[in-house]
Amino acid sequence: MKGRAKTKADEIRFDNLRELGCIVCLNTMNVYTPPAIHHMDGKTKEGCHDLTIPLCQSHHQYKSNNSIWISRHGDGRAAFEKAYGTEQELLEQVNGMI
Ligand SMILES: [Zn+2]
Ligand SMILES: [Zn+2]
Repeated sequence: MKGRAKTKADEIRFDNLRELGCIVCLNTMNVYTPPAIHHMDGKTKEGCHDLTIPLCQSHHQYKSNNSIWISRHGDGRAAFEKAYGTEQELLEQVNGMI
């Protein structure tokens, strides 16, 4: 999928998110896991690259079939937020850390 062009500031934000690691792994296990950048509101709107949180593959895309690894896309937003807090809360946490 082709997304909105990233500014220099967006690139810096993404670098910082990658350095932070998956926010769910950090919160639940206190470990660093290399993340993908999850866009909370798509990749095309103005400001979309600011609405981003770092999630590892297991917390982002994979369908887990268990209650330990709930993924945002694989298991859906409702299950994800029930387990780990809302995306908005995670976003605010992340923004306070980078
Ligand atoms: Zn994770
Ligand atoms: Zn995503």
